[in-house]
Amino acid sequence: MKTNLVLFGKPGAGKGTQAAFLKETYQLKHISTGDVFRANISQNTSLGQLAKSYMDKGDLVPDSVTIQMLEAEVNENQAAAGFIFDGFPRTTAQAEALDAFLKSKSMEISATIALEADEDVLTARLLERGKESGRPDDQDETKIRNRFQEYNLKTAPLEAFYKAQNKFYAVNGIGEISEITKRISAIISGL
Ligand code: AMP
Repeated sequence: MKTNLVLFGKPGAGKGTQAAFLKETYQLKHISTGDVFRANISQNTSLGQLAKSYMDKGDLVPDSVTIQMLEAEVNENQAAAGFIFDGFPRTTAQAEALDAFLKSKSMEISATIALEADEDVLTARLLERGKESGRPDDQDETKIRNRFQEYNLKTAPLEAFYKAQNKFYAVNGIGEISEITKRISAIISGL
């Protein structure tokens, strides 16, 4: 059985950072929808141009586009021992589509691991990250607040969605990076 993890949490919670460690330890394919969108933007593809118009404001990219892209990424990596989904799903429609898609491939989500942190701490982290990364959506507090609003409105309901499947695990996302990796690894070991 493949191990398929969803990393869940607000912008800046550390999903990408933790995914980088977990993919090595567990030999999983890391799929970050935000990274795939940013790669499309830098290559100036039509997908990138479409995504940019939403991302620059801190709005979610429409479900149909995002779901199609995610499925293509999974299809291109069929041989992987499993996947880390980072930044996907972000809406109930995406979560339902992911369940159906994985089922069609005789796979399922093993666990959804939420990195929890307070919005004020995250805002400070994102503004700091924006200085280095140059990401426009990390450099403006209004855009950051909008991303939290999108999260609270559209993504937060997925906690109940995965709890209903007994797949939701919460982790304190504040602390040393290596400590947080240990907290997540303890959950994966117990699966
Ligand atoms: P991230 O790198 O995960 O912070 O994502 C950056 C931006 O990409 C988000 O603010 C959205 O505009 C877009 N994005 C990434 N993943 C998704 C998704 N699953 N659904 C919709 N939009 C997404």
